[in-house]
Amino acid sequence: DDVIRFEGVSKRYARQHAPAVGDLTFSVRRGELVALVGPSGCGKSTILRMVNRLVEPSAGRIVVDGRDTTHVDAVTLRRGIGYVVQAGGLLPHRTVRRNVATVPRLLGWDDAVAARRVEELLDLVGLDPHTYGDRYPAQLSGGQQQRVGVARALAADPPVLLMDEPFGAVDPVVRDRLQTQFRRIQTDLRKTVLFVTHDLDEAVRIADRIAVFSPGGVLEQFADPRTLLSA
Ligand code: ADP
Ligand code: ADP
Repeated sequence: DDVIRFEGVSKRYARQHAPAVGDLTFSVRRGELVALVGPSGCGKSTILRMVNRLVEPSAGRIVVDGRDTTHVDAVTLRRGIGYVVQAGGLLPHRTVRRNVATVPRLLGWDDAVAARRVEELLDLVGLDPHTYGDRYPAQLSGGQQQRVGVARALAADPPVLLMDEPFGAVDPVVRDRLQTQFRRIQTDLRKTVLFVTHDLDEAVRIADRIAVFSPGGVLEQFADPRTLLSA
């Protein structure tokens, strides 16, 4: 039961000699968390951003939930795909509540329903809505901003999550806590997740399967985190 499938996907950016992503074929099963690991510049973000069409492939196709992504309009596609970036990617001039409510508002949800959902999500990521709901991102720590970013991505309960170095901007202790917390959330929610990190330890802790990339977006191998743990 594949939810995300890359079929011979390549990407070459304009004015770049080498392709950012080679002839990539692999798939992610429903409820599976696959970590994409590899050195900086090896094409991990590009791979992620092709799934929600922030980047268009040069060749090949990507199938999400049985549909070729180029046959779905981008807004509809993104409704089913949460996206988490480093430092949360929050809008600085909006409060925590309004950041989390962004997608429900875009979808035209009733205000009361959206507000309830926001409270529930802040609780889920361990932020007391009464304490933090009306703060602005700059009034939060890096780890708190990151949690809001996760809450925002989960707002419309998308089946797929794309996470790009989501815990990259915080110190090791906070990072450790975020990894544990996210792993717990994922155990309950069973999203289909593509998770980019350059940190193999993080991948081992968080992933069901690890895809190891070399420069040029070449998929070298899959690794089982349990084997790496015991190694
Ligand atoms: P990673 O996420 O593994 O660090 P990226 O996907 O960000 O890798 O980048 C892969 C390659 O594509 C790099 O050589 C990078 O410089 C290049 N690249 C990324 N985005 C663009 C862009 N918008 N235009 C041109 N080149 C880009
Ligand atoms: P603004 O009001 O500043 O134009 P939007 O409310 O359109 O911003 O979007 C705010 C943020 O939410 C953006 O960073 C955008 O990438 C993200 N976003 C918008 N729609 C979606 C969606 N359907 N799924 C995931 N993220 C989205």
